Amino acid sequence: MERVYNFAAGPAAMPLPVLEQIQKDLVNYQGKGLSVMEMSHRSKTYEAIIQDTEATLRRIMKIPDDYAVLFLQGGASLQFSMIPMNLAKRGQTMDYAVTGQFAGKAWEEGKRWGNAVAVTNGKADNFRYIPKIAPRMLDQDAAFLHITVNNTIFGTAYNTLPETGNIPLVGDMSSIILGREYEVRKFGLIYAGAQKNMGPAGLTVVIIRRDLIPAEADPVVPTMLQYGVMAKNDSMYNTPPTFAIYAAGLMYHWVEDQGGVRELETANNRKAELLYNTIYESKIFNAAAEAADRSPMNVTFTLAEDALTADFLKMAEGRGMTNLKGHRSVGGCRASLYNAMPMEGVEMLVQCMLDFENGKRK
Ligand SMILES: *Cc1c(COP(=O)(O)O)cnc(C)c1O
Repeated sequence: MERVYNFAAGPAAMPLPVLEQIQKDLVNYQGKGLSVMEMSHRSKTYEAIIQDTEATLRRIMKIPDDYAVLFLQGGASLQFSMIPMNLAKRGQTMDYAVTGQFAGKAWEEGKRWGNAVAVTNGKADNFRYIPKIAPRMLDQDAAFLHITVNNTIFGTAYNTLPETGNIPLVGDMSSIILGREYEVRKFGLIYAGAQKNMGPAGLTVVIIRRDLIPAEADPVVPTMLQYGVMAKNDSMYNTPPTFAIYAAGLMYHWVEDQGGVRELETANNRKAELLYNTIYESKIFNAAAEAADRSPMNVTFTLAEDALTADFLKMAEGRGMTNLKGHRSVGGCRASLYNAMPMEGVEMLVQCMLDFENGKRK
């Protein structure tokens, strides 16, 4: 079988050159006689890998020196718990903007630790847009404001970041990191699961302003869940996800080879523009998200009936385009256009949509 155009939301498509490099390195990494998977994480060879991975990420995201980069496990979902436990005192107020399913889960985890307040909640409108956040809506004593920068399931994004004054902004960037350029300094903490735009699953990247790392964590916080412990040990308190870190490093070099995040952002905007315009002009496909808050990474759209959706997905599958089904909680279709999705894939999808609208079924 030929490789397909994979529109999956995550784990998602990776660039072919990265996969080929992994294949080349797999059984014998750079003539060392063993695979990265078989190496001690304390070996010189592996140390060079993790250091290069961090240095490359720092270059492509322009991460200032007063921010630590942590390579953790547990997915973005574990950060829903680690963030309150490290950034807030027990019972302290933490503000959350609930703009989707993952944002809601983050809020729920916050409630276990403190006074987690939803300053906005878009559930009643099925998360079709991003409610505006005015500074007066925030608690001046809040430990942070948590936002989901890109809502993977509903296909919305913050196209401008909220102003939070002195309250640290915490951003779940799982599905937009490296897809769009952000000024790291706008955030107190950024986190992202790797499996959308940074390689295989198993790795979570946390970028945290060092002054937010507590000198001493609340004693009930497990050692493994303390940012301070992870930062002090350069993410090697225990065995880190060695292979996923190596693969993420290759992804970061690939981003750099493409000209960097800004170049990819421009390409991503072009891909999204083409697909959204096709949807807006269509009589049978409908955009799920409001245009002003639409995501450049996850394009959600629906058809009038489930049967029609199934026919369309089948036709796309037959043409070599896969994983276009919307999340089970939303239905319809979703095309994820992360960095590894080339323009040709989007053009092929658009052609399929036009043909479908014109009555073709193959
Ligand atoms: C995928 C995703 C998550 C969950 O990530 P896991 O690594 O599966 O825990 C959280 N937030 C957002 C925005 C996501 O896209």
